[in-house]
Amino acid sequence: MEKIIVFIDSGDTLVEEKTEVYEGQTELVLSADLRPGAKELIERLKKRGNPVIMVADGLRQSFINVHTQHGIYDLYDGHIYSEDVGVHKPDKRMFQAALDVCNLTENDVKKIIMVGNNLSRDVKGANEMGITSVFMSWTDRYPKEPVDQSEKPDYTIVEPLELLDLIDKLEKSL
Ligand SMILES: [Mg+2]
Repeated sequence: MEKIIVFIDSGDTLVEEKTEVYEGQTELVLSADLRPGAKELIERLKKRGNPVIMVADGLRQSFINVHTQHGIYDLYDGHIYSEDVGVHKPDKRMFQAALDVCNLTENDVKKIIMVGNNLSRDVKGANEMGITSVFMSWTDRYPKEPVDQSEKPDYTIVEPLELLDLIDKLEKSL
């Protein structure tokens, strides 16, 4: 069976932003807690053979620090960071960079989902690319209602591990 390719955000999708410890007054995150189920999600996706690419806004070293701390950094098939790309989501260049790192083209978008907690960045950006958008709706730190059609998610989940059932369902219809 064909595998769904998972693009996934970090902050407040896998990592609990409110636990982030910063270096002094800088934007560099030194450590943070994962959300319950986040580590298991990445490990199980890896076992299932689903490619997983982190697509995240922030400093490269912040993501290295936190995902290494929890032993999952090397499980990703690619890491796309706004610091490197020079723009943040929903800019298409972030998603294009993720396609490029997997040698994918716009013809492959039907196999790709983008999972994130931010309607105006993760969901809007995915929708503009024709990528299936999955809204991780759990925190009150971000809006939960789309401002317009462009931010409307294809699917909504609350807990990281809910993604596995959704992927099962999507793979059956590929
Ligand atoms: Mg986020």
